[in-house]
Amino acid sequence: MVDPYRLTVPEIIAKIDNRELTAEECLSSFLTRIRKIDGKINAFITINHEAAFQRAKNIDKKVRNGERVGTLRGVCIAIKDNICTKGIPTTCSSKMLEHFIPNYNAYVIDKLLEEDAIIIGKTNMDEFAMGSTTENSFFGPTKNPWNLSYVPGGSSGGSAAAVSSCESVLSIGSDTGGSVRSPASFCSIVGLKPTYGVVSRYGLIAYANSLEQIGPMARNVKDLALLFNTMIGHDSMDSTSTSTPYSDYSTFLVDDITDFKLGVPKEFFGEGVDERVAKTVWKGIDKLEALGATCEETSLSTVKYALSAYYLIAMSEASSNLARYDGIRYGYSENSKSENWNNFVSRNRGRGFGSEVKRRIILGTYALSAGYYDKYYIKSLQVRTKIRQEFIKTFNQFDVLIGPTMPIPPFKIGEKIEDPLALYMSDILTVPVNLVGCPAISIPCGFVNNLPIGMQMISPPLREDLLLKASYSFEQNSNLKDRGPKI
Ligand code: GLN
Repeated sequence: MVDPYRLTVPEIIAKIDNRELTAEECLSSFLTRIRKIDGKINAFITINHEAAFQRAKNIDKKVRNGERVGTLRGVCIAIKDNICTKGIPTTCSSKMLEHFIPNYNAYVIDKLLEEDAIIIGKTNMDEFAMGSTTENSFFGPTKNPWNLSYVPGGSSGGSAAAVSSCESVLSIGSDTGGSVRSPASFCSIVGLKPTYGVVSRYGLIAYANSLEQIGPMARNVKDLALLFNTMIGHDSMDSTSTSTPYSDYSTFLVDDITDFKLGVPKEFFGEGVDERVAKTVWKGIDKLEALGATCEETSLSTVKYALSAYYLIAMSEASSNLARYDGIRYGYSENSKSENWNNFVSRNRGRGFGSEVKRRIILGTYALSAGYYDKYYIKSLQVRTKIRQEFIKTFNQFDVLIGPTMPIPPFKIGEKIEDPLALYMSDILTVPVNLVGCPAISIPCGFVNNLPIGMQMISPPLREDLLLKASYSFEQNSNLKDRGPKI
């Protein structure tokens, strides 16, 4: 029999239903796998050992008694460590929240539990989701399962590495400027950034509220769609929450993309995009054309301003969101007998935050300060509007826009860590989508020197159905489906 940790979601469910496998056996298989390999990968910060077994036993009991069971019964899922899980540490990979245990669940967590998924653990990330490599973690970097000397992308690198190496069936990450898509691309899995508002942010520890969404990650499109189904829904606890037009995205998974209109913005293959990446993605686009889609070059002239606008907005929002970590209301605190407030708070923040987080708080505070607010913050909001208008106009002509997810292949751990600007640049193709609020998916599309390359597809707001359909067709007709890292 195949090891349960290699199974897909429908396979696990079928085996649980016909009593070939219990949820407990399935969970054990994953925990053994984690014990064996996670020392090398470092995808997990916390393993939810006991509570997971409790749940598995409960699910098995329900199955035995013929009671109603959820759509993800017995399926293990790994959760990025910035999503609140009641009774399970939620650290944001920061010393600041090293001992924080939430007393409530994020909306998505409650939904997953309702559907009988099993939370197997919490995954490593860049501190407060700030980064593109998962190197900025208080708990050490996550390694890319395809080559342990390479970064897995970020900031949801732990979530991607866990799924790619079969330490979990599914995972969820958060995407503020690419953090689901970047690690999905670098680890050769599927990652979706939903339309802004489609997944409640209640219980997601905020980095930049106006940009971020929680997103599903999986080894194939069908698994991803089944996970996405459980995450959507209107939530009154998130004022930006919207409803989706569909409730079951798996119905769009038919292998037929004739009549699909693909737009290829030439800027997605412009300056800074590695030739080998461009070549691999073009092959992917050719395949979609061969499958019946029409494909035309287009231009998004405003995207060249996206990176600057993104970093100004993200850092400004971060400087405000992270003000609450003062060691009094939240976070790391050092005992002191008598001291003034300023010294107390600045020492806690100075020692609790890592250097990238501090850099961003300082820059964001600067951009919001009197005299600079209009020049930087307001200006970037205006640029954001222009970019959004151009995207929406372009979508009049196309179903989906397409290009690489990351401009460069995965690189070595430590290679760029001293050069924050080079790291920011690696986000040029993912951040426009967060400024606009539309959905985007990264799907595996090939390899360069045995390192994964991802292809990004972007659709109009609320049209995740188009992304899933095109991705599914591509996946069914590519030979990458069964390829996994040897670990
Ligand atoms: N790399 C980007 C940043 O550091 C995106 C991070 C994210 O999406 N959370 O801001």
